[in-house]
Amino acid sequence: MVGDPGIAVTSVVRAPGSFTARTVAGVRSETVRSANLSTILRELHFRGPASRSELVARTGLTRSAIGALVGELVKAGFVDEQRASSDGSPGRPSPVAAPLAERNVTVGVDVAVDSLGVAAIGLGGNVLHSIRVDRPRARIDVDATIDDIVAMVRDVERLLAPECRIFGVGVSVVGLVNRTDNTVAIAPNLGWRDVAFGTRLHHALGWRTEVVVSNDADLAALAELRRGVAAGVRDVLYVWGEVGVGGGLISRGEPITGAAGFAGEIGHLPVNPDGRPCRCGAVGCWETEIGEGTLLERGGRSPEGGRDAVDALLADAEAGVDAAVEALRAQARWLGIGLAGLINVMNPSMVVLGGLLGRVFPFERDDVAAEIEARAIESSRRGVRVVTSGLRGDAPLVGAGELAFEAVLADPMGALTNVTSRR
Ligand SMILES: [Zn+2]
Repeated sequence: MVGDPGIAVTSVVRAPGSFTARTVAGVRSETVRSANLSTILRELHFRGPASRSELVARTGLTRSAIGALVGELVKAGFVDEQRASSDGSPGRPSPVAAPLAERNVTVGVDVAVDSLGVAAIGLGGNVLHSIRVDRPRARIDVDATIDDIVAMVRDVERLLAPECRIFGVGVSVVGLVNRTDNTVAIAPNLGWRDVAFGTRLHHALGWRTEVVVSNDADLAALAELRRGVAAGVRDVLYVWGEVGVGGGLISRGEPITGAAGFAGEIGHLPVNPDGRPCRCGAVGCWETEIGEGTLLERGGRSPEGGRDAVDALLADAEAGVDAAVEALRAQARWLGIGLAGLINVMNPSMVVLGGLLGRVFPFERDDVAAEIEARAIESSRRGVRVVTSGLRGDAPLVGAGELAFEAVLADPMGALTNVTSRR
């Protein structure tokens, strides 16, 4: 956490007698100010432009405090404040504060099996510029990936306004990530193991800004919770499937992370002891039944066919070609079986299907519903809605940008010391 204000206060309060009450109060008021700046910037980032009156109502701070704090954020270049035209209500019109998206960005990077994505995300959450390139499966080693990302980031950087400041880089990787050191522990679908990806990309970019790395499904879930169909929902099962399958499990508004942050690997839920070998080394994991390769194989195509082959299979299914219809029915059955188990465990109010699973769901809705009906406990399934991702394939990219905003939102003024300016 950048500049966690709580630490400074604790050390001062615990220090022996040499500190006067005034010093402690001074540090405290500084801490409170920093926390309040954070609160206001979060409001504007997540909920959009707001008048001073609205900020008073939402934060419980006084009008004069809001005025001073917004003034600081304006001076620091985070916010623009414009005088609102009077809406006819009595009293002075309240100026409207808006996040300055073009001036304050993070860079989101998505390392998928078939493609790389890079986007500039503005304060306030809009994607300002975005590039995605397909890549051959032969080009997924770490060095080639970093070279390609750096080239794409430079392309996006050229599109940014001259006064733009880059506050961080967030990376989504299709694999297990150790969040404490931004290392990819294992990415079976890329063939990576123990790769210090955050550090290596940081050096390759040569920026001051921090590079943070996380799992693609976790970031897709984060994006969906903040910007997508699950906004405001507190108990969400997010299932992200492409070649592999991952998940984001949100309970009471908080992600379930597990002891070391590896929770949510629902793709490796054992479902079929007589099934196919999985890239993780086990047999019959859920992703071996609902992943892209198996869908294509069941439809009589090469499992390595990728997105184009899936598109062709879906077109066949629409035209009523038996092999394609049957392949989707088999996938739907296994999708429903796994979801029923997870619904029983988690009791979510919403299940969001993203990536490939979002694309196939319109074909599989009835079969999936029948499996859930047959297998999930009635009290748990009664309240659950199964929906597809609103952000589609860009969910991990948007989530990566959001992850990189965390440090700015936690301590806006502290983040200014760690910024990369456009040259
Ligand atoms: Zn597995």
